[in-house]
Amino acid sequence: MARLIDRDRAHVWHPATHFADLDRLPPIAVERARGCWLHEAGGRAILDAIASWWTCVHGHGHPAIVAAVREQVERLDHVMFAGFTHEPAVALAEALLAAAPPGYERVFYADCGSAAVEVALKLSFQARQQRGEPERRRFATLRNGYHGETLGALALCGASAYRDTFAPLLFSPLELPAPSFREHEHADLASDLGRDAPETQAAIAALEEHAHELTAVVVEPLVQCAGRMTMTGAGFYREVARAAQRLGIHVIADEIAVGFGRTGHMFASTWSKVQPDLLCLSKGLAGILPLAAVLVREGFDVDFRGAPTRSFLHSHTFTANPIACAAAIAGLELFRSTDLLARLPARVEAMAARRRAVAAACHAVVAHRQAGMIAALEVVPAAGSPGARDGRLGLLLREAALAQDVLLRPLHDTIYWFPPLVIDDDELDRLAAATIAAIRAVAE
Ligand SMILES: *Cc1c(COP(=O)(O)O)cnc(C)c1O
Repeated sequence: MARLIDRDRAHVWHPATHFADLDRLPPIAVERARGCWLHEAGGRAILDAIASWWTCVHGHGHPAIVAAVREQVERLDHVMFAGFTHEPAVALAEALLAAAPPGYERVFYADCGSAAVEVALKLSFQARQQRGEPERRRFATLRNGYHGETLGALALCGASAYRDTFAPLLFSPLELPAPSFREHEHADLASDLGRDAPETQAAIAALEEHAHELTAVVVEPLVQCAGRMTMTGAGFYREVARAAQRLGIHVIADEIAVGFGRTGHMFASTWSKVQPDLLCLSKGLAGILPLAAVLVREGFDVDFRGAPTRSFLHSHTFTANPIACAAAIAGLELFRSTDLLARLPARVEAMAARRRAVAAACHAVVAHRQAGMIAALEVVPAAGSPGARDGRLGLLLREAALAQDVLLRPLHDTIYWFPPLVIDDDELDRLAAATIAAIRAVAE
């Protein structure tokens, strides 16, 4: 039998991967995973410092989640969700609404983050058609935002290689400015940061000018994750959401990355006391299985009642898959039974101490910031360093971290940590040491 890597090379097409990079950095074959660690067949263990694309908040292979999945798959593996229902979907909706701030009434399920965004866009748009506001058909979005890569979600992304290629296919949203705090402490989330920023005033003025044609504004609350972990300020989000709702514009919060405790509250909108009309969730929801949900504000469904032609026109084959719902229920139950949110401030502080230590140890780190369990370090490579010579700074840093058995996936010049929320002090020490070694090897 040929080696797995060669079989992969022959027939598999990986996301976000250049064919030309496969020689330099071939995919790593992972055989098992536990907690914060990925295990290769040969025995090497790699610290998963980015929770496998921001998913597994409780770590890999958590016994309670594994047990819930096993139990569910033996009982009911799948059933279509039109005309049928099941305990996991209903119990999860109840648990999500109990964990959310008051004011939500209904959950619409989908199967990935991009699909959740599409659902929210279509709900907002169709509601306008059916309530006699057909001129409200445009969306507003934040500069530097990211909302996924299906065509509707992609249209909302800021200028990027992903978007530019497909630009001729995409609707054009109103792009709002947003502040970018290159230095940001976790404590800033409890402040009005950004309230008085010039971008905030400009964003509100644009909403006012275009209110007649806007159906919704789509926002990543507090942190634009794919946009180099840009922190936009709790005060900015509060002011923009308030202005939108005053102007009759729906607020769609994309908490696909920042939900499920990532910022220290279950949902990031809580920091700004914002109640979005539609709240999109996915990555941390089931954590280890594809599942997404849109929480819908009380009363929103009124425009979808009446004639059958007014029903919401959207369905995914695997909507509310019972196994994924069971994993999500087990994950939410872990938040409760382990007091995870109450213990998070100590984890956040432990991570902040390591973040500051890395910045102090490395001249190449020119700015660093944190919000909950998201830390980011901006790197400017010294003249003559490999990172300054090669145009692929992020790739070089990733390679150098992997040489230290740590998975980092920098966004260009920005190294970030986004680990399972349960990462311990020893693992954080490993992470900090590997980050320092990678920066020194590449950028100093
Ligand atoms: C990852 C992400 C998405 C897209 O989710 P997919 O499951 O990859 O489709 C959308 N919005 C944000 C903020 C994300 O981080």
